Amino acid sequence: MNSWEEMFQQQPIVSKMLTNSIKKKRISHAYLLYGDKGTGKYALAQLVAKSIFCKNKEGYEPCGTCLDCKRINSGNHPDLHIIHPDGASIKTDQIAHLKKEFTYTGLESNKKVYIIEHADKMTDNAANRLLKFLEEPSQETTAVLLTENSQSLLSTIRSRCQILALMPLNSKQLEQKLIETGITEGNARILTNFTRNLDEALDKSKDTWFAQARKLVVQLVEMLQNNRDEVPIFVHTQWMAHFKEKTQLQEGLDLLLVWFRDVIHYHMDDSSSIVFLHQMEKLEQASMYWSIQDITKHLQTIMEAKRKLEQNVHPQLVIEQLTLQIQR
Ligand SMILES: [Zn+2]
Repeated sequence: MNSWEEMFQQQPIVSKMLTNSIKKKRISHAYLLYGDKGTGKYALAQLVAKSIFCKNKEGYEPCGTCLDCKRINSGNHPDLHIIHPDGASIKTDQIAHLKKEFTYTGLESNKKVYIIEHADKMTDNAANRLLKFLEEPSQETTAVLLTENSQSLLSTIRSRCQILALMPLNSKQLEQKLIETGITEGNARILTNFTRNLDEALDKSKDTWFAQARKLVVQLVEMLQNNRDEVPIFVHTQWMAHFKEKTQLQEGLDLLLVWFRDVIHYHMDDSSSIVFLHQMEKLEQASMYWSIQDITKHLQTIMEAKRKLEQNVHPQLVIEQLTLQIQR
């Protein structure tokens, strides 16, 4: 993300606040940006730095092509310091080193910016050292702390910063990020139905349990159409063996909901909404077997099954009833 214009699409509120203070030349001494992975924290910090250092900027928008901008992009600007965890934590000597660097005046201007990634990973000693640093701000220094978990930061540090909360990714943005990591469009769509958090989605994409759960859902639906006699034994031996915990079973039913909604999308020729993109043939078969009215009824039945699970009705009983009702 190289420009505020782009950033406004993803993070309109925070972008507005930051560009306003840049316009008015009232940049804070310290910002704390918090939000999930993938929400643009680092890109925002870089944009703040570019708006401070770029000599060709138009209004608050940096040019993106001058030497300052290029060096910020590559992380090599002499007056921009970036700290990230050394192993599991950010250590005292990293903060001490930063302070020492800041006793020299800026190499190219008198301004200096530092970015601390995963600021919640500071050891207590490191955090206390940083706190002293934040307590004696110099006119020309800007700190940008980034975290996914602002509550783990010392409250004394938080109170020294202007805190800006980033919005979570919407499903389209998350889908795009997942595709960028090499995940197929179909898988990305399924994952975004279960989380809006990039890390969780990436974990789930590698989760063999979740992959098997999806297969079982497709198998169950096929069996409900073609081999009704085998459904009880399938539920008993395979379904219940895989969805052992209540939360797992809820997730199985969520997948079933997604599947039946897909069949409706298929009926309505709305392929852009289909989640199970890998299963178009099976969706077609299901759409020939069940009408939209049938499926609307099935969706209600599944929702009802989910409620019964919440009310602690015996799981196997819930699923047996559900499959019987879908077969009616
Ligand atoms: Zn520039």
